[in-house]
Amino acid sequence: VSGLDVEAIREDFPILDRKIGGDVTVPGPDEGDDKPLYYLDNAATSHTPRQVVEAMTEYYYEYNSNVHRGIHSLSQEASVAYEQAHDRVAEFIGADGREEIVFTKNTTEAFNLLAYTWGLTELEPGQNVVTTQMEHHASLVTWQQLCEKQGAEVRYVEIDDDGRLDMDDFRAKVDDDTAMVSAVHVSNTLGTVNPVTEITEIAHEHGALSFIDGAQAVPTRPVDVAEIDADFYAFSGHKMLGPTGIGVLYGKRDLLEDLPPFLVGGSMIRRVEFEGATWEDLPWKFEAGTPPIAEAIGLTAAIDYLEDVGMEAIERREWELASYAYERLNEFDDIEIYGPETDRGGLVSFNLEGVHAHDLSSILDDHGVAVRAGDHCTQPLHDVLDVPASTRASFYLYNTTDEIDELIEAVDTARQLFA
Ligand code: PMP
Repeated sequence: VSGLDVEAIREDFPILDRKIGGDVTVPGPDEGDDKPLYYLDNAATSHTPRQVVEAMTEYYYEYNSNVHRGIHSLSQEASVAYEQAHDRVAEFIGADGREEIVFTKNTTEAFNLLAYTWGLTELEPGQNVVTTQMEHHASLVTWQQLCEKQGAEVRYVEIDDDGRLDMDDFRAKVDDDTAMVSAVHVSNTLGTVNPVTEITEIAHEHGALSFIDGAQAVPTRPVDVAEIDADFYAFSGHKMLGPTGIGVLYGKRDLLEDLPPFLVGGSMIRRVEFEGATWEDLPWKFEAGTPPIAEAIGLTAAIDYLEDVGMEAIERREWELASYAYERLNEFDDIEIYGPETDRGGLVSFNLEGVHAHDLSSILDDHGVAVRAGDHCTQPLHDVLDVPASTRASFYLYNTTDEIDELIEAVDTARQLFA
C-alpha cells in the first residue's frame, strides 16, 4: 500500500465535501444540491488544499505588491517570494537553479513560447520535428503550425495496440534533419508512461533537442529533468494542487540564454533607448509584464504539500487507484479500455458499447461522479483509436477505491438505461 493517510489528506480539501446536483448556471452550492461529489477528473484539473489558498490569501492580505520594481518593503517581500518560487520549482524537478525556470500561464504557453522563440529563429525548411500520435493539442498543434510556417515537416511516431510508443518507429523517424523531438511524459488519454530518457537520448544522437510535456507527470511522480537530460520540459500548476494561471517552462540554461525573448515589454528589459533595447538575465527575459505573483506563491505551497506527502507515495497511490479502476472496468465485456494494462499513470479512458461518452458522462454526473468525456485534447489519437470520444476517470492523492466503486455502479445504471 502507498502509505498515504487519505482521510487526513481529504480534510485539507474542503471542496470534496461539496454536494452537487442543483442549479449549475449559478456558480457554487445551492439548495438543489443533494448528491455527494466523486471527483475523478484530476487530469483536467486538481483541487486546491487549504494550505495553497492560505498562502495566496496571506500574500493578498499581508504583502500584495508588484515585484522587481519597488524599493518599498512590501515590494521587496513580494519579490523575494516570487523569486524563491523559481528556486522551489527548480529544486522540485532537479533543475540547475532559477535561471532555468520560466513561469508561463500554463503548459500550452510553454509550448508556444518555444515555438515563437526557438522555432521561428532556428527551425529551417527541410528540417523536421518528430513527435507522437498521443500528443495533447498543446504540443501537436504548436508543432504543426510552426512546421507549416517554417516549411518543415512534422512526423508522428505510431503507437502499438497496447497504446505504447513504437520505439522502432521512433528510431526510424528521427534522422539528421530532425531539429526537435517532442513527446508527452504521461499520456493524458492513454495513461502510457513514455521512456522519456531514451527518447531524449535518440534526439541527442542526431543532434536534435528534446521537449517533454510533463503536464500529467510532474503532479503524479518524481521527475528529475537532469536525469532525463531533457532540453525543455513543461507543466501546469493547476494539475498539481496549485492555482490556475501559472505554468512552467524548464529549459537548459545555455539554450535559454541563446533564445530571443517571446513577449516583450516591462520587466524583461535591462535598458531601453529609442534605438533599441537589451534584455534582462534569465529567467526574467522571458517574463514580460506583471507576472503571476500570487500564483507563484500558491505553486510554492502546492510543492510543499506534495513533498510533505512524498512523490514516491503519490506515484504508488496513483498506480493503486489506476490498477483498481482498470480491473473493475475490465470485468465487463461491453467496456473497451484504452492504453496499457501495466505501467500506467493514474487515469483510465474507456467506452461503454453503444453509449456515447457524452451521454455516459452525463449519467455519471447524475450520480455525482465527475469524469471527463470527449477527446481530451487528443483528437488525432482518437482517430487512431477509431472512436470519436472516450470517457476518462483520473485520480489523485485524495481519491479512494470507494469512489471508483461509485463510478462502476453509475456505469451500470447507464448500461441498464441504454440496454
Ligand atoms: N499536455 C498534457 C499532457 C495535458 O494533459 C494538458 C492538460 N490537459 C496540457 C498539455 C495542457 O495544459 P494546460 O491546459 O494547463 O495548458
